[in-house]
Amino acid sequence: MEDKKESCLFCRIARGEIPSYKVYEDNEVLAFLDISPASRGHTLVIPKEHFPDFTLCPKNILAHCFEVAQLIAQAQIRQLGATGTNVLTNVGKSAGQTVRHFHIHVIPRYEDDGLQLAFPPHRLEDKEMLLLQDSIRKGV
Ligand code: 5GP
Ligand code: ZN
Repeated sequence: MEDKKESCLFCRIARGEIPSYKVYEDNEVLAFLDISPASRGHTLVIPKEHFPDFTLCPKNILAHCFEVAQLIAQAQIRQLGATGTNVLTNVGKSAGQTVRHFHIHVIPRYEDDGLQLAFPPHRLEDKEMLLLQDSIRKGV
């Protein structure tokens, strides 16, 4: 784990070893502009401590990160003229996670920005929906 933290990109940003455009910082949480923004003002919110992803982040720190994400979303709307925001976090390679340090994307949206975060519509049979409901409920 120590080696991971040494080389982890977002740990290095949190320690100030790699520069970033910070927009918010407190003792536990940092928010900075994404280097390759999906839209104007795209911001990442991270815990300063290393947790690989959303599922592995302790809930008090998770809650704190989401509070900061809300502040960022409000600021994007107030200050940048955004008319909406997508708040999301990728977990695992299959979901597109490329940096294994938990982060929340706060992506401001503008009318006609052309950005596509598509969920193609799917329908499942009632039987399958019931099986899925049962499996997930059992695990919660
Ligand atoms: P993921 O794909 O893991 O959900 O998101 C990682 C994000 O980190 C990407 O949107 C990518 O543009 C951003 N990113 C990668 N390297 C850097 C960096 O060195 N600095 C900053 N500010 N963002 C980065
Ligand atoms: Zn890290």
